[in-house]
Amino acid sequence: MNAHSPSSQLIDPFGRQIAYVRVSVTDRCDYRCVYCMSEDMNFLPKRDVLSLEELDRLCAAFVGLGARKLRVTGGEPLVRRNVMSLFNGLKRHLTSGALDEVTLTTNGSQLARFAGELAECGVKRINVSLDTLDPAKFRTVTRWGDLSVVMKGIDAAAEAGLKVKINTVALKGFNDSEALSLIDWAHGRGFDITFIEVMPLGAMELDRSDQFLPLTELRRDLERRLTLTPSAYATGGPARYYDVKETGGRLGFIAPLTHNFCESCNRVRITCTGTLYMCLGQEDAADLREPLRRSESDEPLIAAIRAAIARKPKGHDFVIARAAAPAVQRHMSATGG
Ligand code: SAM
Ligand code: SF4
Repeated sequence: MNAHSPSSQLIDPFGRQIAYVRVSVTDRCDYRCVYCMSEDMNFLPKRDVLSLEELDRLCAAFVGLGARKLRVTGGEPLVRRNVMSLFNGLKRHLTSGALDEVTLTTNGSQLARFAGELAECGVKRINVSLDTLDPAKFRTVTRWGDLSVVMKGIDAAAEAGLKVKINTVALKGFNDSEALSLIDWAHGRGFDITFIEVMPLGAMELDRSDQFLPLTELRRDLERRLTLTPSAYATGGPARYYDVKETGGRLGFIAPLTHNFCESCNRVRITCTGTLYMCLGQEDAADLREPLRRSESDEPLIAAIRAAIARKPKGHDFVIARAAAPAVQRHMSATGG
């Protein structure tokens, strides 16, 4: 079978076509966000992590199987040494029309340096994670971050013509009071903004049930001040969008806990070690590194991908309950957000 023929596309047992691949290029990060990592993380040994050439091959295999959109994530993808060579390589799939989009999720710390190159590699949209506009609170939530550096990075991205979307993890008692000013700021700069619920991923010293802010609650609060109209806009991701009358901007909510979005899930995630997770909230996974390293031919790799997609589960079952164990043991930084 020709890898590019329609019959070669990846369709899971529930009829969902896998068109969106999120690939983590490193588990390392220059921040230690309190909901994401502990302060003294143990990172993977280098030999376990796919080389940039292996990542390129893996992405090409998914493109051959009908993936239309690739999102590069991490850890912090821009701290991976020479990561621009990966973006530069992926550009060929954009030029050929095989891919619609290569995007990036970043904490913004390295954007001032890389925004121009990203644009040259054909990246058009990026997500920048930002939970607060207060420098002291920014330092608290990221432990190691400097807000002014991120702001310069965001400026550089905008100047390079990248369309920026802001992702904000909604944290009870931390940034709920700031939601309006974050929306004002983002929309004032022409950026969409999306709020994300804290997900129970990875063991952590903090109890996430203390941080959990249901987005239904946040939206209700916002609706006292803003007029939100459901928008038809969709990016292929899990966010639900609203148009905000007062700002003219778009506001998204990603609520895996209060709204189950699995029925339309067209995504899979790959870790930087080449482990394919068919669902963010389930442990089942497939090792793609072994077939990737075993043979120069892509056949074993493609067979492993197909076998994995045939097991993609219908959905996740996250529950945030006090003192409950995390739904899955791995951290978001390992799976890639
Ligand atoms: N370092 C990059 C960044 O921060 O954008 C990319 C990787 S990060 C793991 C991707 C996204 O996951 C970020 O927006 C981050 O806020 C979010 N995230 C991390 N841990 C999370 C958790 N436990 N629940 C919800 N979102 C989380
Ligand atoms: Fe790093 Fe992103 Fe995790 Fe923060 S959310 S620690 S920036 S990987």
